[in-house]
Amino acid sequence: MAEINNKPKKKIGFYWVYIVLIAFFLGSIIFNSTSSTKTTTLPELSKMLKDGDVEKIELVNGKTAEIYLNEQGIRKYFPNETHQSFGKSPNYTLNVSEDRLYTKMDEAQQGMANPVEVTPVERHNWTGEIISWVLPLVLIVVFWVIIMRRMGSGSGGMGGGQIFSIGKSKAQLYDQEKDTKTTFKDVAGLEEAKEEVMEIVDFLKNPNRYTRLGGKIPKGVLLVGPPGTGKTLLAKSVAGEANVPFFSISGSDFVEMFVGVGASRVRDLFKQAKEKSPCIIFIDEIDAIGRARGKNIVSGGNDERESTLNQLLTEMDGFGTNSGVIVLAATNRADILDKALMRAGRFDRQIYVELPDLNGRREIFEVHMRGLKLSNDVDKEFLAKQTPGFSGADIANVCNEAALIAARRNKDSIEKQDFLDAIDRIVGGLEKKNSVITQSEKKVIAFHEAGHATTSWMLEHAHPLVKVTIVPRGKALGAAWYLPDERQITTKEQMYHEMIATLGGRAAEQIIFGQISTGALNDLEKVSKQAHAMVMYYGLDEAIGNVSYYDSTGQQDYAFTKPFSEKTAEKIDAEVSKIIESAYQEALRILNEHKDGLTQLAEKLIDQEVIFTDDLVSIFGERPWKREERAFSRRKEEQPEDNGQSFNPENTTIA
Ligand code: ADP
Ligand code: ZN
Repeated sequence: MAEINNKPKKKIGFYWVYIVLIAFFLGSIIFNSTSSTKTTTLPELSKMLKDGDVEKIELVNGKTAEIYLNEQGIRKYFPNETHQSFGKSPNYTLNVSEDRLYTKMDEAQQGMANPVEVTPVERHNWTGEIISWVLPLVLIVVFWVIIMRRMGSGSGGMGGGQIFSIGKSKAQLYDQEKDTKTTFKDVAGLEEAKEEVMEIVDFLKNPNRYTRLGGKIPKGVLLVGPPGTGKTLLAKSVAGEANVPFFSISGSDFVEMFVGVGASRVRDLFKQAKEKSPCIIFIDEIDAIGRARGKNIVSGGNDERESTLNQLLTEMDGFGTNSGVIVLAATNRADILDKALMRAGRFDRQIYVELPDLNGRREIFEVHMRGLKLSNDVDKEFLAKQTPGFSGADIANVCNEAALIAARRNKDSIEKQDFLDAIDRIVGGLEKKNSVITQSEKKVIAFHEAGHATTSWMLEHAHPLVKVTIVPRGKALGAAWYLPDERQITTKEQMYHEMIATLGGRAAEQIIFGQISTGALNDLEKVSKQAHAMVMYYGLDEAIGNVSYYDSTGQQDYAFTKPFSEKTAEKIDAEVSKIIESAYQEALRILNEHKDGLTQLAEKLIDQEVIFTDDLVSIFGERPWKREERAFSRRKEEQPEDNGQSFNPENTTIA
């Protein structure tokens, strides 16, 4: 990869500035040092004039009289000097106003035959004047450069050179000839997405075929999906397949503290891209600049982002459809983007890049196992089943981690157990093997998790459990994996059952120990959000009725103004706590009914640290309800993943 910033090779030297300054000072001192020049007074001058000792008088800049004596005068006033020793400097200087000098001279020389005349002289003190101009300038430049260096050192040490490249785009250029090529072979799964971008590849390869028929190719394509699902990879592979250069930049790279920099970077990026056309520009995290405009009028920082976005829109409108530059952009939140970005001729096409399913995960394992030395017991199918909810990046991480673990254990090849350990590690940060958890804490966690497992097993619409562990990892004390069914809409009953299962952890603590703990923070957060959603967004509450306060445009700012009255707010609060309370009572009821099973399950957990569906079947028997099973999802304890106030209806149905 080649940096395309035209970095100036040389830093600007400051030493010459100092040298010039010193030279100026020295020069001006020498210039002004008029050895034996004295000052005099007006009366004395009158006397000299009357005596005829003066040769000439020059009035410099209208305020300083310079008096040159003749031979006779010098002999009289400077007996030790000669005419020559003064050279061109005056004998006396006198600060006097023009008027007074003339009056005094007329007075003194009245009636003289050859009166001395005053010669007005304009003399510039160049050194002084130049210094007074240059010095502040130099100071400003020095100050600026210091700031630049500060900023530069933060972003990779561009040194003083940054001053010249601040408006340049920071895009990285991947040249297909020089760099290792990424092709569709490296992208596993994502079949639909690949099919859609295939058209772009085709166009970049033979643009004529399309232009001949007057067809228009999208200028911009938006790749939407969660992080790590291979959006960058996909964009790169498009460039690789089409064998064109690939510019990669992140949306946040446009944003700088200086006004106008973002816009200038956009301009620069498109200029470079046009020179290299046909090519692909990839803008990662476009939400950094593309967020809906005009939401926050107070902050000035927005102006800068807006002008950057405007510039991007202008550039995209500016180049013809067939100029061969195609912009791919990635985001995980298409809903917050400015609507103007999605208009025709801009990012008018969206490609969804979702988390991989079982099949996709198996293929991703295949891709990333290519370079690994595997033992025979490694089964990709099995590993794919063990990694529900993993993104492509997570799986790439697992493969690498497994290799590292195997190396640490001095193995010749990577075994299944290494992969399993790697998966455990990725799930919740590094395993805290040596972290101290007391026996009683372990018991609480076990019963908490068993409570979730039992309630969800007993409720028709709750997701049945796949696996529970109480091995602490990262911040999580325990984790449970569930098997959600794929549903596009969720009924009130389904949501209610899920809430009961979520509260099952705390309910179990209550029943067994008679007290509750802080361990249920994540559960409570989730339940509260869900209850709020039921009441406020989905209109599932009888008292509130078929009203939704959800704003799908995301344009409204409810920070200060709520779309409902105080009275309704009170009613909402009451309904939310009513729902949660009744769900909690239901959880208590179920667990009291199945207290034996709950205890067996918890004990098994304490013993084995991990339990699977089979264990539940052996304790409670098969669930009477059979469902289609398609995708996994996982849930972690005490690790709030979405702390923000943002509400996404798609997320509320999946635990
Ligand atoms: P995103 O841009 O969506 O955040 P990336 O494209 O940067 O994700 O993916 C990060 C890494 O994850 C890739 O470099 C690749 O190693 C791996 N990866 C993600 N998705 C896939 C996939 N579908 N096939 C193969 N590898 C993948
Ligand atoms: Zn819990």
